[in-house]
Amino acid sequence: MNRIPNSLHASDIAHSMHPYTNMRAHEQQGPMIITKGDGIHVYDSEGKEYIEGMAGLWSVAVGFSESRIAEAAYKQMLELPYYHSFAHKAHAPSIKLAEKLVEMTPEGLNRVFFTNSGSEANDTVIKMVWFMNNALGRPEKKKFLARNKGYHGITIASGSLTGLPGNHKDFDLPAIPVIHLTCPHHWKWAEPGESEAEFTARLLKEAEDTILSEGPETIAAFIGEPVMGAGGVMTPPEGYWPGIAELCKKYDILLVSDEVINGFGRLGTPFGCQKYGFEPDILVTSKQLTSSYMPLAAILVNDKVYNPIADNTEKLGTFGHGFTGSGHPVACAAGLENLAIIEEKDLMGNAARMEAPFQAMVQSFADHPLVGEARGTGLIAGLELVADKASKTAFSPIGKVAAAVARAAQDHGLICRSVYETVALCPPLIINESDIERIGQRLGTALDEGHAWAK
Ligand code: PLP
Repeated sequence: MNRIPNSLHASDIAHSMHPYTNMRAHEQQGPMIITKGDGIHVYDSEGKEYIEGMAGLWSVAVGFSESRIAEAAYKQMLELPYYHSFAHKAHAPSIKLAEKLVEMTPEGLNRVFFTNSGSEANDTVIKMVWFMNNALGRPEKKKFLARNKGYHGITIASGSLTGLPGNHKDFDLPAIPVIHLTCPHHWKWAEPGESEAEFTARLLKEAEDTILSEGPETIAAFIGEPVMGAGGVMTPPEGYWPGIAELCKKYDILLVSDEVINGFGRLGTPFGCQKYGFEPDILVTSKQLTSSYMPLAAILVNDKVYNPIADNTEKLGTFGHGFTGSGHPVACAAGLENLAIIEEKDLMGNAARMEAPFQAMVQSFADHPLVGEARGTGLIAGLELVADKASKTAFSPIGKVAAAVARAAQDHGLICRSVYETVALCPPLIINESDIERIGQRLGTALDEGHAWAK
């Protein structure tokens, strides 16, 4: 057996395999160990303070020190640390959280299924949709429409929906029938001279042509994030979502709103579909549902989806799907307390109020020589970096300069994230104007250093 080295740093290098990490580089540089959180800040093992400009992984709405959530989880642990919801069993935290989610989300989403992660939730969505269409006697209606640059998770099926090459290469994905449509981001994907309205019309035509050439009887669902997050923070062009919703209705295709990042006020509205004016048949939430204090995701479905599934479970005797941790009582108790804090502190209202100063700070970098586009909405934003502003040419290799800027920001006490060529920001919803000012100062310094480094 290996001797356990006498430091966390050495032990991590010796034993851990990190997600989304170059493992050989990690063996050289080792981990950044985070030891403590307080409000919008986290602290590393050397005691250095950082503004967590990404809210962890787009998720810690209430900040890093809400003792109320810890107390709710502790209380639940003492009372009933675990129970499941298989075969008619139930417990108060999951019943109450399901009721709360139905109350908070758009009308018609009446049923809730819990999983442990966003990836599991989207896998479950795929299985629900397939199960439903088999039940309805249309076994050929199984394909998903998704988008390039969309992110829906990393399991075999949800990773197939994701439209990012880095999640497919050497993983043998996609592994389910999925068609990735053009990324709905005007700045990057419009033809030269194409207006936003023309771009929207082209994308809607592409979607309809795809449906018709594949055959509407083979397309089960369209899945998308109202605002794309992990692919680089891309806001949709005007008219895109209502147009997609209309096509889904026309061809009897289910519309899935993946709100794992967007949900619970991130965009300045409670849910992203409300911001962009469409009504999904299925809505997926996670992250800000518990502020990631505990792992939890929830899928909400309307009666059109629920009824054929329920009928089929009666026919087959069961719904042969579920996780040991589905609706875990401690995670649900943490979620209920987190949502109570979001409501009592009006954090969704705060996100809406902070949108203007936050986006103004982001726009203040639009003319920086490294920045091709400064974009965002609500409390999410991205700065896409370019080697040449006029031609929008990216640096080569892609992401190199964005990673350097994120590293420089970290040196200056701001954690942001480089996703491909974009530097992303997604701060906790508790943020105030002076926090935004400090983020702007640190980001500005990092951009200047990144610019000097790139030359
Ligand atoms: N869907 C979206 C929109 C996401 O942003 C993510 C994660 O970032 C997921 C799904 C997957 O969630 P998880 O990482 O919990 O599996």
